[in-house]
Amino acid sequence: MRILREGEMSSRDRIDCKIYNCSVYIRRNFGVSSASEWYYRLVGDYSYLPLTRFICPEDAEILENAIDNLVEPVEVYTKIYRLADGTFRNIYLRMENCDRTEEGNRLWRIHMTDILDILDIEKRAAFLEDTIAKYRHFMTLQSEYYFEYTVNKNFLIMYKYVNEKSYKFVEQDLDEFIAEHSREEATEAHFARLNTFAEYLKSGSSSFEMQLKLELDGNEIYFGVKGGVYYKNKNIVAGIMTPNKDAVSSAYYLTPAARDVGTGLFNKKAATEYAIEKMHEAPGKLMWLVILDIDDFKKINDSFGHLFGDKVIRKVADTIQLNVGHRGIVGRFGGDEFFIFLDEVEDRQSLKTLLKTIVKEFFTAFDPQCNITVSIGVCQYPKDGESFEELFGKADKALYIAKEKGKNRHIIYDEKLHGAYDKDSINAQSVAFIASREKKRAGLINLVSKMHEKGAGYVVNNPEVQKELRLLFDLDGLTIYSGYGEEVLCRSGSYVCSASDRVRLFEDKKYEACFEKEDFIAISGPNGLKEISDEVYADAVKQEIGACVRCIARKEDKPFVEIDFDVFNSKRKWSENDIEMLGLIGCCLGRMIRDGM
Ligand code: GH3
Ligand code: MG
Repeated sequence: MRILREGEMSSRDRIDCKIYNCSVYIRRNFGVSSASEWYYRLVGDYSYLPLTRFICPEDAEILENAIDNLVEPVEVYTKIYRLADGTFRNIYLRMENCDRTEEGNRLWRIHMTDILDILDIEKRAAFLEDTIAKYRHFMTLQSEYYFEYTVNKNFLIMYKYVNEKSYKFVEQDLDEFIAEHSREEATEAHFARLNTFAEYLKSGSSSFEMQLKLELDGNEIYFGVKGGVYYKNKNIVAGIMTPNKDAVSSAYYLTPAARDVGTGLFNKKAATEYAIEKMHEAPGKLMWLVILDIDDFKKINDSFGHLFGDKVIRKVADTIQLNVGHRGIVGRFGGDEFFIFLDEVEDRQSLKTLLKTIVKEFFTAFDPQCNITVSIGVCQYPKDGESFEELFGKADKALYIAKEKGKNRHIIYDEKLHGAYDKDSINAQSVAFIASREKKRAGLINLVSKMHEKGAGYVVNNPEVQKELRLLFDLDGLTIYSGYGEEVLCRSGSYVCSASDRVRLFEDKKYEACFEKEDFIAISGPNGLKEISDEVYADAVKQEIGACVRCIARKEDKPFVEIDFDVFNSKRKWSENDIEMLGLIGCCLGRMIRDGM
């Protein structure tokens, strides 16, 4: 048997195979009766040898001398030589009495763990964290409730795992709990069951099973309860409570159906229900409604693929969840939109700190090239409203403003700054939106068929038609250039200065490159133009153009006609519909002009 010395062991070996809680049951002669798998891996074919053969002889002697009169456990810090591959390890070893026997002969238990160095501690912490996360995950997937009772404190906790964290619905002195749940109109059977439950807990019963009816969150729930004293410290009685599905159901947000499949967060219905319930529970208490939407998520999907997009969504979900913790709940309202309801954030400053931390974590979580940012809208209960609908509307308005202002920011709703929010006007707006879409479509069909009949001149030579087109799409200006941009064919709207020279702009290769793949571009604000080129930006600033859709028709591969649909001095979050429709009209018209139709 060859035993290696310290210098002969590789550091990799030390780190990759950790001994966590290895138990070995030994006979009087230190022969091994049974052991954790690790032990067998460690000693390989030599497991028939007494354990004392593997450790330092002087430590082996301590154990041999102690085994006959063992009262208290004997501890040694020693080396164990790993015969399977010739390395050794520094370990902590504890020998103690145990209840096990083998063929009528008693056995002793030996517990071993690695002596940890800093690196090991980190690894071990990560290992334990993973284990905790794993069990939290299992507990989240279960529709069970759990309880824990600390005997010497007479304290009871009941909880459930939602979104990987514990949602405690009882946290009080056992006697108080019993008093609270012993309502006068309750039946004898109910009292009896409650008292039995209390008795099991107080006596530290090793194992029990019973039925219990409890009123939680205003619902009566029947539970099958199974529990017993927790073995390790015997001071905690813990167990599982399985709700009886046939009995009255509990809150929707506590059911597994309440979660979004992709992220494990609450779905819209559940998050809404939770928020409403919290506001009812503590009327007037400061709470925050937050809506968070990933900026330009479509581009992220387009540039890096849908799978990466999904990963971003999960990471965003995890980051929010982790930072919100017990201060509230997080929901996914579909797509790239998240909802956060905070009922434990006391002031504006803490809220801002929380939001900033979340945003910073997104930023560092991905490669800067991906440029992942979010926009956030916030409003406050009860200041901004009493009803969920009103509050959500205001947070949504704040989000919309954050997007309008150029994204990557949070806006806390303020009526003075952002204007009053009128629920009816929102309803009216949404109806008007649908109506306007229909109107636009009808207008577009009419325009295209007239152009077909009368040629491009129907638009180019007709200020009334140009104006109609502007009104239909809520545009401030329309300019059409031809002859590689040298000729201004028409200009409609109150521009502050004359049309600029497109020839000059097209000489800017960066601008031309915008039209490399598409014949039209949609820009939602000056920042978008600035990203293209300084010259394009300066040109727009001069003309006071904020947002625009620009379409071109090429001749010999060069932009020959350009049609500009402009919005003055403000940003515009173009809807996909508008971009599509304006792009179609613009490109159609451009080709007709080019071809002299
Ligand atoms: P904005 O800054 O205005 O929010 O722009 P945006 O591109 O993020 O626009 P919007 O929020 O309207 O679009 C969200 C897009 O997210 C639409 C859809 O293609 C995509 N999406 C929705 N759900 C998922 C998903 O589960 N996974 C992936 N990869 N993409 C999704
Ligand atoms: Mg988005």
